Order: sequence, then C-alpha cells, then structure tokens
Amino acid sequence: MTSRGSTLVAGLVLAGAVLACDGDESTEQPRSPLFPVIPDAWVNRETYNIMTGIWAGHGVDAAGTNHWTIARPQRRTFAERFAPESRYFQAWFGAYTVFDTAKERSWGIGPAGPELRLIGLFAADQRSWLQVYGDPVPLAEVRDAANLPMEETTRLGHPAWRVSAEMITHLDVGDYNPTRPEDVAFVLAYEYDDVEFDASGLVVPRAAWAAEVASYQQVTLVGELWAWYCPVVGKTHVIYGNGVRFDPRSGESRETYPLIRDEVRALAAGIRCHR
Ligand SMILES: [Zn+2]
Repeated sequence: MTSRGSTLVAGLVLAGAVLACDGDESTEQPRSPLFPVIPDAWVNRETYNIMTGIWAGHGVDAAGTNHWTIARPQRRTFAERFAPESRYFQAWFGAYTVFDTAKERSWGIGPAGPELRLIGLFAADQRSWLQVYGDPVPLAEVRDAANLPMEETTRLGHPAWRVSAEMITHLDVGDYNPTRPEDVAFVLAYEYDDVEFDASGLVVPRAAWAAEVASYQQVTLVGELWAWYCPVVGKTHVIYGNGVRFDPRSGESRETYPLIRDEVRALAAGIRCHR
C-alpha cells in the first residue's frame, strides 16, 4: 500500500507541474472527475454539498461548496471512518470552494496567504457534522490557529499554500448517533447507481466503537490543507485531508495521519480549478 501510494503521489506531482489552470468545467458532467484519482479504500466518487447555510449557521460569512469522500465500508456495513481500529478512523478528504461575490474576491486568501478566517470553514463544518451525529456539545477548535505552519507553493500556476493543522474536537461516534439511513442521507446530495456506498454506511452500531472509545470522546484531528485562489473560475479552493490522534481504552495513544498521508496527497494532487 505504501509503495503504491508513493508512486501515485510522485506521478501526479510531476503531471501537476506541467499543467496550467484552464478553468476546468468538467464538474458540469454527470461523472465529474473533480477527484480524478480515488484510491481503492475510499468511496469511489465525491459527495457534494452546498455549504453556505452550514457556514452561516456557525458564524462564517462565505458562499460555497464541499466535495468530499470517506473510506468506504470494507469488512463491515459501515464506513471505515467509524472503526477505531481502522487507519481511516475519523478520516476526511475533501475540497471546499468559496465563490467570489459582488463585494469580495479571493475569500480567505490574502497576498500573504491563507487568512485566519479560512480555518473557520473547517470548525463550522465539523461542528455541523457533530450535531448531525448527536454530539450534545459539539467542539471544534483549531490549535494555535493564528500560527499554523505553512509552506508556499504553486498550484496550476497560482500561488498556493500547504498548511498543517490540528483540531481539538470530539469523535462523531457516540450514544446519540443516528440509527436510520434516512437521518443522515441528506448529506449525500448525489446518488448514482454505481456508487459503492449509500447512506446505510453512515449508520454506526454502538458495538463498532464502545469497547475502544468513549461516547464523543475528545480527540485531535491531524491533517493538511492546500489553499489557493483561482481568478479564472473566481473561487478560493481549499483541499483538506486528515486522520486522528486519540487515546483508545486499550494500549497507547494512536495517530493515523502518517498511515494515510500518501493517499491523501495523491487525492489532493489531482484536483484542478473547477467552475
Ligand atoms: Zn485556476
């Protein structure tokens, strides 16, 4: 797995270096290749949400979208993100876009790079997700948000930044999890016959987690984001991927991001600017 992941990363980084932004319009096709490379372990196409209302509900004034995927169910009925023993426990991969408006262009990306408010996109999204999963007190705080390590790079000819971040939050597995697919199905905005995943994968039996972690236990999400503004399509793009650091009931503290970083970077490397 590791060597195959590394090969993917190397190939895509090389391809990205020769690509310029062409304002890709392919999101309008039914089989959007917004995520052109999806490793086998992940749901085989992205899900899409309008985020404007979710962000507004948590105090973030931004208009945009979220395309995302999670590790698909493998040996079980539910997605790997809910299994404490999985390397994909609590893992996300996705891409936010924030649209230019009449009053503002390049939301969250200033001349010196990502602004503090960019981090608010994640905290709002995570709190909203925890609410869906029944957490009575949703917590999502990015650690030392004003001083995140970042590295300037380029993306399709645009200035871009890779940022490392940690978020203090709660597990989404807990005593008040939804028990019916229809209670979480609304997060799956697209439905295709050949998607190897449906909302039932988002329903988690208590037995999946209760032996290893506490209900809505405090944990730290650990991950990376890549942010840039594309003037051709008029959108800020923020790609993200993460694992988790947590204390299981048995054994030592565990950290999963190093185990999935190559896959996340392969996913991230393929993403273009989309209208
Ligand atoms: Zn672009």
